[in-house]
Amino acid sequence: MTYVGRYAPSPTGELHLGNALAALCAYARARQEGGRILLRMEDIDEARTRPGAAEGILRDLRALGLHFDAGPDREDEYGPYTQTLRYDRYEAALAQLAAAGRLFACTCSRKDIQEASSAPHGPGGARYPGTCRGAGRALDTPGAALRFVVPPGDVVVEDAFAGAYVQDVSGEVGDFVVRRKDGLYAYHLAVVVDDAAMGVTEVVRGRDLLDSAPRQALLFDALGAARPGFGHIPLLVGPDGKRLEKRSGAQTLRGLLSAGASAAQLVGALGAALGLCPAGTALDVDGFVARFSPDAMRPETVALPADVFT
Ligand code: GLU
Repeated sequence: MTYVGRYAPSPTGELHLGNALAALCAYARARQEGGRILLRMEDIDEARTRPGAAEGILRDLRALGLHFDAGPDREDEYGPYTQTLRYDRYEAALAQLAAAGRLFACTCSRKDIQEASSAPHGPGGARYPGTCRGAGRALDTPGAALRFVVPPGDVVVEDAFAGAYVQDVSGEVGDFVVRRKDGLYAYHLAVVVDDAAMGVTEVVRGRDLLDSAPRQALLFDALGAARPGFGHIPLLVGPDGKRLEKRSGAQTLRGLLSAGASAAQLVGALGAALGLCPAGTALDVDGFVARFSPDAMRPETVALPADVFT
């Protein structure tokens, strides 16, 4: 089977170096496996999408030297590669889940759930205690969210980089939202429907999404689609070990490039963070691909060398 990977940014702002690392790793993994790499624009959270951000992301990925086999600027028969153009697919998936009895309408507020849930908060926040599961409300109840009925038991995801990851989704998260109260499709639903429809064989992305993989695995199962492999890469931190998001806007790709950094310096710095090359190496994308190694993906975090910011 041909390897198919993807990079799936959300156009909520400019790409930062952590995003660039995820894009490079997804790209390198696909190229090393002799496969295809897709670019999918995840603009489904309409309130968080920023005008012009999608175009900026395409421009910055190109500036870095990444050329995807398909994407919003290179459509093929698996597209469209922009989620807001795929609502009919998400609707069809909801209909499939509804027909299988896997959905229910939920009118609980966030506060209701927090108050009803005495358990410690899991990956999705407070565990959903199942309040509306048996209420038998019509799925088209106005103002209701749609939740997915989670089966009991541990879900095991064999992560290619992080190792086996086990989560009791029912016990830690509970029945989770697949269509929000405001009518928007939830991230987990859209990402699974698209990965299945686009034939993605392995999901490579940041370690911050590792705890989403079990929920997504259950949705693949429920939709009758094969689960892809998962490979969650280390989170990038600054030279001081602190999260990049908390730092100034200077770490956006655009900011660094317009301050005079070259793409090869930035790719080299990301390679150095992973231990693929010494700090200060200039590396083009092909050089990064040649050095990429799954073993370098094992740490939970990797730190940028200090020279990127000078
Ligand atoms: N769109 C998500 C993000 O930018 C990533 C989704 C995924 O890779 O599954 O955080």
